[in-house]
Amino acid sequence: MSNINNVAIIGSGPAGYTAAIYAARANLKPILVSGIQPGGQLTITTDVENYPGYENPIQGPWLMDQMQKQSLLVGTSIINSHVEKVKLDEDIKKLYLDNGKIIETKTVIICTGAQARWLGIENEQKLQGHGLSACATCDGFFFKDKIVAVIGGGNTAAEEALFLTKFASKVIIIHRRDKLRAEKILQERLIENDKIDFLWNSEVKKFHGDMELTSIEVFDNKENKNFNMDIDGVFVAIGHDPATSLFKDQIDMDDNGYILTKPDSTQTSLSGVFAAGDVKDKIYRQAVTAAGMGCMAALEVEKYLE
Ligand code: NDP
Repeated sequence: MSNINNVAIIGSGPAGYTAAIYAARANLKPILVSGIQPGGQLTITTDVENYPGYENPIQGPWLMDQMQKQSLLVGTSIINSHVEKVKLDEDIKKLYLDNGKIIETKTVIICTGAQARWLGIENEQKLQGHGLSACATCDGFFFKDKIVAVIGGGNTAAEEALFLTKFASKVIIIHRRDKLRAEKILQERLIENDKIDFLWNSEVKKFHGDMELTSIEVFDNKENKNFNMDIDGVFVAIGHDPATSLFKDQIDMDDNGYILTKPDSTQTSLSGVFAAGDVKDKIYRQAVTAAGMGCMAALEVEKYLE
């Protein structure tokens, strides 16, 4: 029975690494499968100013690198692979990896996080990487002295817009309402920034361009009319969807695909299966709350195995 693990963690964001650190320190010898984007969403952000313990802003990728090193140091085994299929409804759960290996484990902690949401409109897929992006940190550099738009009104849109002012000559925030939902401090920074303009009550309906994005079709929902706007680049920042397709029909989820857990717990609808971080949390979605839930999940695993 020696090849049956105590706990396998799927995902390598703050929830996954924190679960790994706690499980390793409880001598459970955790295995962590890192997934397609090791380090998760924080690896595509820049300044992090709200993770406690650091006086000055730190870099997202650096924070994740530290968490990975810490989890390794205390005894986590990290597998750089992707889980393709799971079988979770038996005492010994099975994770099927894309390298052909199968992990057998008594418990699983799901920390697969969430992914950027797209608008689902004409030419969106075709123009991704050709003037259209969902990650300013990754692609902002290509828009030096250009005019770009950011779609959305939340914290992500605000941060993307502020970041893009380092490169672009003008950043237009296109928002479907006339009020942002971003934190007040970010709103103030946007308003103070000369490079940032707002297009309120506006919805992007179509992207134009053959090889590269050239313009967008915008619907003004107050005036009830469409217009075209030339633009060099667009960054879509309209939120995220949980990465849960792998668990569909096996675990209870809400209508938006977030995994449901028992109150004040990370316990899912399946015995021995726990979920932590953005994959089960559509309210807070912060690195620090994800890390906290990762800790909870590891403690609950420890209790379950007893
Ligand atoms: P949010 O869900 O907060 O915001 C999404 C924005 O996109 C909203 O303004 C929404 O409009 C708009 N939107 C959604 N769907 C569409 C659509 N189909 N067409 C046009 N606009 C659309 O997502 P975020 O990614 O901004 O943030 C997610 C969470 O992460 C939040 O809790 C946020 O606070 C947190 N976060 C924190 C950061 C930090 O603390 N530094 C950084 C980034 C994120 P509407 O307002 O009309 O609903």
